[in-house]
Amino acid sequence: MTDSLKSKSTVIVGGGFVGLFTALHLNHRHYQNPIILIDSQERFVFKPLLYEYLTVEMEDEQVLPRYQELLKGSKVTFIQDKATNIDLQQHRVELASGLHYDYQYLVLGVGSLQGYFGTEGAKQYAFPFRTREDAVSLGQHLQSCLQQATLVKNPTQRQALLTVAVVGAGPSGVEMAATLADLLPSWYAKLGGNIDDIRIVLVNHGEEILKGDINAHLQETALKALQSRTVPVELLLGVKVNTVSTDCLEYQSKDQKAQILTQTTIWTAGTATNPLINNLPIPAEHRDKHGLPLVTSTLQLPDFPDVFAAGDCAIVQDKSLPPVAQVAYQQGAGIADNLIALSQGKEPAPVKVNLRGTLMKLGLGNGVANLFNKLQINGKTGDLIRNATYLEMLPTPVHNFKATTEWLTDEIFHRYHQPQPQLKSRTSIARNQRRSDNAFTIKVAGIFLGLSLLTGLVWAFRTTQPPRQPQPTQEQFNK
Ligand SMILES: Cc1cc2nc3c(=O)[nH]c(=O)nc-3n(C[C@H](O)[C@H](O)[C@H](O)COP(=O)(O)OP(=O)(O)OC[C@H]3O[C@@H](n4cnc5c(N)ncnc54)[C@H](O)[C@@H]3O)c2cc1C
Repeated sequence: MTDSLKSKSTVIVGGGFVGLFTALHLNHRHYQNPIILIDSQERFVFKPLLYEYLTVEMEDEQVLPRYQELLKGSKVTFIQDKATNIDLQQHRVELASGLHYDYQYLVLGVGSLQGYFGTEGAKQYAFPFRTREDAVSLGQHLQSCLQQATLVKNPTQRQALLTVAVVGAGPSGVEMAATLADLLPSWYAKLGGNIDDIRIVLVNHGEEILKGDINAHLQETALKALQSRTVPVELLLGVKVNTVSTDCLEYQSKDQKAQILTQTTIWTAGTATNPLINNLPIPAEHRDKHGLPLVTSTLQLPDFPDVFAAGDCAIVQDKSLPPVAQVAYQQGAGIADNLIALSQGKEPAPVKVNLRGTLMKLGLGNGVANLFNKLQINGKTGDLIRNATYLEMLPTPVHNFKATTEWLTDEIFHRYHQPQPQLKSRTSIARNQRRSDNAFTIKVAGIFLGLSLLTGLVWAFRTTQPPRQPQPTQEQFNK
């Protein structure tokens, strides 16, 4: 046996929903071997709440907690570094810093990257939305466009500054378009601009929004929500984007070419495989058509059973699971179970995943919660349930408790005791006028209904989680 094979460490590459939750479960269950978690970033990204970070509805520590803080007091060693190569034969992870870590078991949870279908200019000029840096740079760019629009005299130039094209009408594109259709008018109004000049265009290759996604059954609700934002979202469906540049998006609709003058194209369509995964010596027959490795039901690589892979960077053989956070974090818990089983000389077991319904943000303070595909709750209450459910999922009980409390306090005592001025585009004034008389009553009722549903929901979600393993007694632990 070589030196590297003597290592007892379990190395986890990628601290997303798979990696972080594997590490936390292992720590929680007093796993005996060293646990090393490697991520290129300083902070965990709670992607479903990244919109709330952009809109400043939530803070850094809620959406982007630091690994050091999340893992404080645990036995997990966090290394901030980028894995550049994995030697599956030598059991070695090589890092950008030149260091390397040898493992007994390896967990791969490196997620996916933004894909662009080879569209000219898209990678250079469109904004992706997956990381903290993406959210910061998009936020700064949008603020700057709105500021410039208040100063520019040329109407064509101003329109390009005030137009946003969101490419991809999957859940991320729909959530982004709906959010911006409320957010940008509120920012622009503060600058004294006319909010009716703002255009949000949702561009999609297919004829339908959310097609083929686990949220497909929310299509009608989402369409209604997109139309009833402060500025209604324009839909441009069944078109192919040809090129993206700094001030224009060119597309093809049937035989005709056309363009949208815009300084902001946000790209949410498609994914690409992480190069670390692409470079693994795994034969084509053990990969799917996108190059993702196929893993067994126990989430191990068939030819390398000491390597687990899950979440957005792997595909479970003969099973169709959507690339979503609720799958990834349950798989993280399942990998921890299997690592513990292996350390006790037992066989790893198939990892079960329960899909518990879907949640979508459909504007500022507006959302939809589809619970177990049985009950659908829209509007403010849907948004309350969505936020509370995600905050409940945030790692570590201390953090979780703090984030939930802060959010609820803010939601109830800040927002509703100091109501924000309502923004209305001219086209929506009449519609909103009818609603505004009842708005306060609805909001108060929504909060109470939301809180009672929320309690029930959190209970329901918790009870469907795989049962927690009994904690070892001190005596067992000392053995
Ligand atoms: C904007 C957005 C909104 C979303 N909303 C929802 C939602 O509402 N509900 C839902 O269920 N899902 C949602 N998703 C999908 C969900 O976030 C993903 O399915 C989930 O994050 C996948 O988890 P993962 O652990 O596989 O990967 P990730 O969470 O992406 O984590 C991968 C980690 O690996 C690290 N990494 C990558 N390469 C390396 C390397 N070479 N070395 C070291 N570290 C590396 C990254 O820094 C990252 O921390 C959303 C995704 C996006 C982008």
